[in-house]
Amino acid sequence: MSETVTESRDLFSKFDEIIAVRENLLASGVEDPFSLVMEKVLSPTRAICNGRDTILLGTYNYMGMTFDPDVIEAGKEALEQFGSGTTGSRVLNGTYRGHREVEDALKEFYGMDHAMVFSTGYQANLGIISTIAGKEDYIVLDIDSHASIWDGCKMGDAQIVPFKHNDIEALEKRLKRIPEGAGKLVVLEGVYSMLGDIAPLKEMIKVAKDNGAMVLVDEAHSMGFIGEHGRGVAEAQGVLDQVDFVIGTFSKSVGTVGGFCVSNHPKFEIMRLVCRPYVFTASLPPSVVHTAATSIRKLMHAGNKRAHLWENSKVLHKGLMDLGFKLGTSEPQSAIIAVIMPDLERGAAMWEALLHEGLYVNLARPPATPAGMTLLRCSLCAEHTAEQVQTIIGMFERAGKAVGII
Ligand code: PMP
Repeated sequence: MSETVTESRDLFSKFDEIIAVRENLLASGVEDPFSLVMEKVLSPTRAICNGRDTILLGTYNYMGMTFDPDVIEAGKEALEQFGSGTTGSRVLNGTYRGHREVEDALKEFYGMDHAMVFSTGYQANLGIISTIAGKEDYIVLDIDSHASIWDGCKMGDAQIVPFKHNDIEALEKRLKRIPEGAGKLVVLEGVYSMLGDIAPLKEMIKVAKDNGAMVLVDEAHSMGFIGEHGRGVAEAQGVLDQVDFVIGTFSKSVGTVGGFCVSNHPKFEIMRLVCRPYVFTASLPPSVVHTAATSIRKLMHAGNKRAHLWENSKVLHKGLMDLGFKLGTSEPQSAIIAVIMPDLERGAAMWEALLHEGLYVNLARPPATPAGMTLLRCSLCAEHTAEQVQTIIGMFERAGKAVGII
């Protein structure tokens, strides 16, 4: 009898290509852009990175709430009064007073009837999208949607129909091809975080509604900043009342961690029982929900900070444009300004040159970026001073010339 030996296949072989790209990059001698450690965080805009005092221009701390004294105090109090964690799901032992308080703060912030808090924004998209769109339904989404939206689509049973980024006609065409009577969900983002561009929500929502679709808008990168009350791009374009579901996160302007969905749908509360990424995971720690509730309430009255952040965005955009950098948008549309790099090598060299100048930005690459682009993503904070923004422009000028990009 002959013995057959089955050769085992290394399940990691599928990562060989990305391992090689990473090894080649590091062999060129640059610091690893994906393993930077913040040794000490001094403020929303400054940290010690690799022993160097560094200006932070690559966080999502748009409104600078992470060091707000009231926010910190709320977290400390909750830690002492309620302990370090809930050790349970929201539907069992994991709903504390703070979870209700942060949901009340969200309802007030958006002026909506229902708010449901998840452990992250990623889970909010995963949960809501996969649960509300079922087997007979269609999800029509922008091709540049965030990974959490795509993963929500993958996890559910609906038919997935992508359309070209921000293309109103393409959206309409896709919607018209869906069989009559099918359930339809259009998924959009207020701000697209890679290039910092906004969606034409007014026109897109009209097309969606004319074709009988429900609309979900992810306002992760606009909450707190865009719109008169910081409710996002839908507020700024006057269409918030037509959005069926707003998805958001606490990990950006709110300054902590967590995700949410707000809605006026009369049956929305049933989500708490049927949405698996809400049910089958532990709820947020008390300190997190209390800091979030305090931060959200302060963001309702942050008009001056919003105005200063817009000023920062405009000054940086113009400064970089005048230096000759290629940017993701011709006008500043959000707090994100993406500087387009010619290739990964020069992008990484520029990233490192900026770090040596004392500036941290995000190096972004495919698959996160559209069209295979390498980007240096700058995200501004309402706590950056006008002087810091000028310093940043000077750093870009020196680094850009040293690397040969400008
Ligand atoms: N949606 C968008 C558009 C995002 O950019 C992100 C995170 N960058 C998320 C959702 C997920 O948010 P969280 O960090 O809370 O998981």
